[in-house]
Amino acid sequence: MCGIFGIYDHPEASNHTYLGLYALQHRGQESAGIVSSDQKQLHHYRQMGLVSEVFSRDTLRRLPGRSAIGHVRYSTTGSSELKNAQPFMVDYARGMMAISHNGNLTNASLIRGEMESRGSIFQSNMDTEVIVHLIARSKEKTFLERTIHALRQVEGAYSLLFLTEKEMVAARDPLGFRPLVLGSLKDSPVVASETCAFDLIGAKFIREIEPGEILLINGDGIKSFKPFPRKQRHQCIFEFIYFARPDSFIFNHNVYEMRKSFGAQLSKESPAGADMAIPIPDSGFPAALGYAAQSKLPLELGMIRNHYVGRTFIEPEQRIRHFGVKIKLNPVRELLKGKKVVIVDDSIVRATTSRKIVKMFRNAGAREVHVRISSPPITAPCFFGIDTPKKSELIASSHQVREIQKFIHATSLNYLSLEGLKKCVRGEEENFCYACFTGDYPYPFQTEI
Ligand code: AMP
Repeated sequence: MCGIFGIYDHPEASNHTYLGLYALQHRGQESAGIVSSDQKQLHHYRQMGLVSEVFSRDTLRRLPGRSAIGHVRYSTTGSSELKNAQPFMVDYARGMMAISHNGNLTNASLIRGEMESRGSIFQSNMDTEVIVHLIARSKEKTFLERTIHALRQVEGAYSLLFLTEKEMVAARDPLGFRPLVLGSLKDSPVVASETCAFDLIGAKFIREIEPGEILLINGDGIKSFKPFPRKQRHQCIFEFIYFARPDSFIFNHNVYEMRKSFGAQLSKESPAGADMAIPIPDSGFPAALGYAAQSKLPLELGMIRNHYVGRTFIEPEQRIRHFGVKIKLNPVRELLKGKKVVIVDDSIVRATTSRKIVKMFRNAGAREVHVRISSPPITAPCFFGIDTPKKSELIASSHQVREIQKFIHATSLNYLSLEGLKKCVRGEEENFCYACFTGDYPYPFQTEI
């Protein structure tokens, strides 16, 4: 996963990009970067770390110009190191270009293999770099045409921002896996992964960039192109379940409301005889609210989160993740002693988190610990940008719900059903990708991971 942000023709382009990235930090904590344009050339700064650690007043000052794009990274392909940080910038025969990418291409290594066999040299191991090569090789006249030519050859998930000396281009893949929204800050166009980035800088949300749509933003304004055949949308349902920020509006819905409805539906399907409902912070909050309201249970904050620790999931090693849960979460003993609790979380991936959490509740004196998960069991890896790459690591790919319940030592365990999830997006069910729950991928492809 990643977050992208761009702004065109504003006197404080880099500063606003910095703020936009700050609001999108939840989408990636490994590295951050900004490329700005002063109309003559591009300026570049990227580093490993959080947005607040990467940029200083000084580094931002060294990113002059009225246009900028930025990126926060959570690696799904390519290792976690500086050469894979974005935006990716190159100087090629026709000038300079930079790219910020959210998503995952499914045919990148195929294309890359062919190019390398003909002598191409790649600087990173990101799938994104393939797009840069395709653009550089294209014989088309304009940057927009070269971009379209390149995008016709790639498959998979991409929400993209490009910056050249004079232009900005935004593109969303024809299936629309990842969100991408258009706004304006006074008269300056802004593009971001989620609307929460607009709120921070005081920009107005205009609309979502449509699947398959390409926006050309330059001195003449914004022009929209739809060069690809129209396809059935496959927006990632996991953005609603976990990834996006609850205050964002993406895929035509507010994320918070959507999560609440998942929780309410879960309660209808799987009530629990408990004294209270408890959210697992932070991602379980809205679903737990919906669950508690629907089941008329008091909602108690029985698990407290230390907000100065990053998401436990970002540590690449299992060893650290185990430790991470305890560092991040601590139960309120006085509240739990002798009580029957139902805890609500958004998802189970490997189940290491839930196992630790249930243990913490039991150690704190809870008599019964019912676990409710506001998504269906994740049984298949995602090849479109969510970090669940290996089937063997997904507990629900090889274990039944009752076995998982045993593994995490829960009194009971229930997931939201796939039908229930679809009910919450009633009328738009067909517009979403559910492959992580079903293994039915939107199109056939060779797995590269
Ligand atoms: P675990 O089951 O131990 O692998 O961890 C599951 C928890 O990680 C869930 O409660 C989510 O809040 C969070 N989570 C789920 N999917 C992801 C993901 N793709 N990236 C980061 N965190 C995730």
